[in-house]
Parts: sequence; C-alpha cells; structure tokens
Amino acid sequence: MRPALVTELALALAVPAIAAGLGLFGLDAAPALLIPVLLYLARHLFLLGHLVHLLTRRHRLVPPFPHGVWGDVYRSIAQYQQRARRGRKRQVRFTRRFREAADSVPDALIVLDKAKRIEWVNPAAEPLLNIVRPQDLGRKLTDVIAHPEVARYIDAADYVRPLELAPDHDRTLMLSIRVAPFGERKRQRLVVGRDITKVYHLNMIRRDFVANVSHELRTPLTVIAGFVENLGDSPQTPDTHRRPLTLMHNQTERMRSIIEDLLTLSRLEMDEHAGNLETINVADDIHLILADARALSKGTHPISHDIDETLQLRGNPAELHSAFSNLVYNAVKHTPPNTHVHIEWREDTAGPCFSVSDDGPGIAPHHIPRLTERFYRVDKARSRASGGTGLGLAIVKHVLNRHQARLMITSEPGAGSVFSCCFPATNAVRMPPHDDDQDDAESAASNDQLIPTAVATDSDPQSETSRG
Ligand code: ADP
Repeated sequence: MRPALVTELALALAVPAIAAGLGLFGLDAAPALLIPVLLYLARHLFLLGHLVHLLTRRHRLVPPFPHGVWGDVYRSIAQYQQRARRGRKRQVRFTRRFREAADSVPDALIVLDKAKRIEWVNPAAEPLLNIVRPQDLGRKLTDVIAHPEVARYIDAADYVRPLELAPDHDRTLMLSIRVAPFGERKRQRLVVGRDITKVYHLNMIRRDFVANVSHELRTPLTVIAGFVENLGDSPQTPDTHRRPLTLMHNQTERMRSIIEDLLTLSRLEMDEHAGNLETINVADDIHLILADARALSKGTHPISHDIDETLQLRGNPAELHSAFSNLVYNAVKHTPPNTHVHIEWREDTAGPCFSVSDDGPGIAPHHIPRLTERFYRVDKARSRASGGTGLGLAIVKHVLNRHQARLMITSEPGAGSVFSCCFPATNAVRMPPHDDDQDDAESAASNDQLIPTAVATDSDPQSETSRG
C-alpha cells in the first residue's frame, strides 16, 4: 500500500481512537465522536480550499506538501505543472528557432489566413514582394501585390506549377511564386516567393542561342539539301556517286528535322500559355493520325481505338495535333512489328485524357523520368534509324504545359507502355451525340477489324493488369 494511504488510514483510525479517549474522560459518546470528525473534515476542507486557491491564481505548487493523500495530490499537480512549464519552454525555444530560421531564408515567406489576409511574413518578403511589416499585416495579399496574375493564381487554387512573375515594384526581378495550403481543412496558405532572376536570364540566353543557331543553320541547310537532291536526281550523276548522295540527302533531312524541332521547342518556350485556342474535334484529328500511323507502320502494327466522339477539347489545334501524333508515331516507331497499339480518348472524373498504349518491349523505370529531356533516347541507334530526333517527347511536354495538362508515362519492361495526356476538366467541351446509328456501326466495324483476335482488348481483364 502507498505510504500516503497508510498515513490517511492512520488519521481516519485516529478519529474513533480520539473519540474513545474523550469518552474515557467522561464526555458523551456523540460530542466525543463529533470533535475528532469535525477536526478531520476541517483539515480536508482547508487543504482543498488551499489547492483551489493556488490553482486559480496559477501559483506553482512547491514543497513542503501536506501528509497523507493530499500530499500525493499536491505532488502530482506539481509534477504536471513542471512538465507543462518544460513543454512551454521547449515550444518557445522552437518557435524562436523557427523564426530565426525563417528570417534567415532568402525566399519570401508569407502565411495567409483563411480569408487570404497576411498573417505573418519574413524579412525577405519586403525586398522581393514589397510587403512592409507591420503595416501590411492583416491586409489581403492580392491588395498588397495588385498584380492580376497573382489574384488569378491564388484564386484558382491549382498550385501544381509555380507562377513566374516580374513584380511591378521592380521589373528587373523575376520571381517564382509557390503556394502550399496547410492547417485545418487546408484553408491557410504558405506563399513562397523565390528570386529566379539569374536562372531566368540564363534560360533566356540558352533559348535565344538555340533559336538563333537553328535559324541561322536552316537556310544553308535548305540550300545544301536542294543541291544534294538535284545531284541525286540528275541523269549525269555517275552511279558510283548515287549512294553517297542518298546518304548525304538522308543526313541533311535528319538535320533539317532536328532544326525544325528545335525551332518548334523555342517557339513553345516563348510563352507558357497556348495561343489561338479553338474547340478541337479530337475524334476527327485522331482518325487522321490513325491513317498516318498505319501508313508509317505499313500494316505491321494492329491499331485499335476507343474514342468518345462527342468529347471535344479547347486548345491549340496545331500544337495538340503535333503532341498526339508524336505519341502515336512513337508507339509505332519504337516497337517491333505485331505490337498492338491502342488509342483512347475519353473523359474521367479528373478531365479528358488522350492515351496511347502498346504491348511492346516497354521502358525500364530509370529511363522514364528522363524521357522528356531533349535528345534523350532509350535506344539511340534504333531511334536514329527510325528517323527520331529525340525531341518529340520534349515537344509533347511543352505543348501540354501550355495547356495546363500533364504527360503521364507508365511502362513495364516486357509488358508495354502507356503515354497519357490528361487535361483539366475545364478544357473539355461536350457536343451533343450525333444520332447516326450507321456511323456508329461503321466505326465499330472498323475498330473490330483492327483488333486481331490474338491481341488483348479493353474488355480483357488480363490486358489491364499486364500493363505497367
Ligand atoms: P524520338 O525522336 O527518338 O522518337 P522522343 O522524344 O519522341 O524521341 O522519344 C524519346 C525516347 O523514348 C525514344 O527515343 C524511345 O527510346 C523512347 N520511347 C518513346 N515512346 C516509346 C514507346 N512507345 N515504347 C518504347 N520506347 C519509347
């Protein structure tokens, strides 16, 4: 038994003992019992009252503590108080360290409350975003940085990509702004503004250099290609020269493709938003691409499709045609004959998606993150032999970025690959289905015709699991 309980028990037993003692001295039984009970109760009430007094005044409980159970109660509360004090000290130290760290960060950090008002900023926010402490605390961020793009970015609540911005107060700066929602139901936001002026200028220099070099090379190369072609076609050309001339012609064509792709990339990099937006009949576009893909494959690849004919897309027609065709031609170019290629155009809960899957050799996982880099090829020799420039997926990625869409690549060696272009739901345009049963019947017939019986189709659950 705990010593405090023993003491308490002894005190309680002392009550009848004292009563008995008083009885011996000739007192009546009732008053003899009442006196020690009252004394006993008075002690409890005093210690309870004293404890309430100390706690309501937030006093620290310090020894000496009373005997018995009350001693244990006082001691336990004192321990709680000590632990809470240590926790508070730790918290204060942590908050101080966090503030010191946040103050020394060269990026602007801003905490916004649920109403997007500025709650806290670090010192770097002043030179980078022109936020002055303490005057701007409590103001809406979009009032302090009155830049329409900032308001649009913060309100859109789509923070996957950072916003690049030249702030009005200093046009020589280039900032990258990121927002991270946090707190209860993610309604608070941490805004991070980073100075990317140097990287931005370096990027501009690189982009301009590549664009200028490509542009300068384009004209002489066209002239050389023209002469080589003329010489190859001329009846006066000796037969021994024909093969080298054909090789020269092929190589100049390859160089021209590279230059055209580099110029396309430079153009795409100029602006991060696609221009000339139209409502595109993607189904029609896919049918054109299918025809070209079949010609490219010379019938060696069975190609099937599953197209939502009523689903259209808001975007730049030329850019999206180039992206979609690139993925389909890749599935033909980079897979051996008899590889089944399947094209899908449909809408799911996240938005419309164009995808090309094949059951070809697939791509090892370590290549996948690098596929959209310029000139990155898994199999260099095969890519060159098939006329690839190594720039196709880089172009696809840029086109999709300009449409706020994502390129998703999944692949499993030996099982095949899936390249998907997923667009925001806001880009989808739904057309009323056309009532042409005959059209449907024809398209179903053509689809069936393309799927050889040996190849898995969508309805085959095996095909779902076998792809990476
Ligand atoms: P390329 O001009 O070589 O086609 P891309 O940028 O379009 O360049 O593709 C990069 C590389 O990705 C290709 O060289 C190829 O190795 C690989 N690749 C692309 N699509 C596929 C596919 N469907 N199956 C296997 N590999 C592929």
